[in-house]
Amino acid sequence: QQQQFGFRFDNKYTTLPQSFFTKVQLNRVKKPSIAIFNRSLAQELQLNADELLQSGAKILAGNLELEGAAQIAQAYAGHQFGHLNMLGDGRALLLGEHVLANGDRFDVQLKGSGRTPYSRGGDGRAALGPMMREFIISEAMHALGIPTTRSLAVTSTGDVIYREQALEGAVLTRIAQSHLRVGTFQYAATFAGIENLRALADYAIARHYPEILQDENRYLALLECVLDKQAALVAKWQSVGFIHGVMNTDNMTISGETIDYGPCAFMDTFDPATVFSSIDTQGRYAYGNQPNIALWNLTRFAESLLPIIATDLEEAIQLAQPVVERFPSAFEGYYFSEMREKLGLLSTNEQDEALILQLLEYMERFEVDYTNTFRALTEGVYPKNLLFQSEEFLQWEQQWPARLDAQGTTIEEARDIMKTVNPVIIPRNHVVEQAINEFVEGEPALFLQLLQAVTNPYTTADSKFTEPPQDDSPPFVSYCGT
Ligand code: AMP
Ligand code: MG
Ligand code: MG
Repeated sequence: QQQQFGFRFDNKYTTLPQSFFTKVQLNRVKKPSIAIFNRSLAQELQLNADELLQSGAKILAGNLELEGAAQIAQAYAGHQFGHLNMLGDGRALLLGEHVLANGDRFDVQLKGSGRTPYSRGGDGRAALGPMMREFIISEAMHALGIPTTRSLAVTSTGDVIYREQALEGAVLTRIAQSHLRVGTFQYAATFAGIENLRALADYAIARHYPEILQDENRYLALLECVLDKQAALVAKWQSVGFIHGVMNTDNMTISGETIDYGPCAFMDTFDPATVFSSIDTQGRYAYGNQPNIALWNLTRFAESLLPIIATDLEEAIQLAQPVVERFPSAFEGYYFSEMREKLGLLSTNEQDEALILQLLEYMERFEVDYTNTFRALTEGVYPKNLLFQSEEFLQWEQQWPARLDAQGTTIEEARDIMKTVNPVIIPRNHVVEQAINEFVEGEPALFLQLLQAVTNPYTTADSKFTEPPQDDSPPFVSYCGT
């Protein structure tokens, strides 16, 4: 049945054992006001967009309880930079599971909505700038065809929050297939007991992978499904140069959606060692290390599932190990298929990987921009830079049409495909930062223009958005407590 603003909540998560969540009281803010609203997403979600925009601020800031809302914080654990901690929603509130007419189900969550029993020392709040950042990057990711949580709105609170300085507070309305994480399973395995772990796994299967419900060993099948989804996801990240920045196990979803846009960024100059998080001093979450870390995290997921994969631990390991070991080849399969498309290659040839890796090696050697190099190949208009003027590139460029020839494609036909996969524009950090700063200062024009551009990434874009930064040192994004 229809509830306020078109929400139709059916909160199945709250039927899980009590240890998986805590009911949360409202933490009211001073003056809720919608700073940005995603009308097309509201429509996709069959919500009443006009009504929400007009009188929904109180709901979206967590000042008023929605009829039928779950109003809970979820429990989870997580390996943060390699160390296991008990975490949970320290600054988020799950309003509920919103169900569309066709049965599709989405979590509606408020991020930055105040303290919960899992807040530890934190204030439960978020600043306007970082929430605008999550809004624009998640929507850009979606437009690039990359599975991700979405952003319905950012609502400013009228309260001041304190970090290194006084900042304007805000709440993001996040939409997700679910907020189940690898860390949710680690929590269950470590703290909740085997019965509860099984209940969680059954909930996850029913919600995300109903096709395996009848499998002989559905928990092993769950492991296979999540590994496959994550292999596909990280391959897409790599193909656009996206760096997540904090791939802790609590920031890796069971659904295979990208989650938690903290110190993430898109790479400008191609360099696998690129790191964006100021606290990632070891480069654990560097661009080139993301597939390895995904495997590391998924190995933690496998460990969590062992007790329900088989009663005998040895047997469970024997079943899970080969599944986990298939991840690198699954990832490579997805990655090279993404990269083949970027060069207009439709068929598969054993020399393709060498052709792709060779190009990447030259891009790294000549320190050129990742996105713009693929777009130049797409347009057939080469800038006068070190790569395009090099002997190495000239030689590479002879092999490419030969390879296309072998599949019966002309370079023009290849470029038609490439135009649909090589973006003209990515949300570059230096531009995003400027747009957010202006937005926070009360000048929204640049942000709105950039949002329009990055959510239409395969058309044309203003050159002020597509040029790499002058200074090529990676701009660090501050991380803690924003
Ligand atoms: P993250 O690094 O964003 O994945 O967050 C890690 C953990 O810290 C999660 O349990 C968050 O809920 C919690 N957390 C982050 N910021 C705050 C905050 N301002 N107040 C309370 N908890 C927070
Ligand atoms: Mg997180
Ligand atoms: Mg975060």
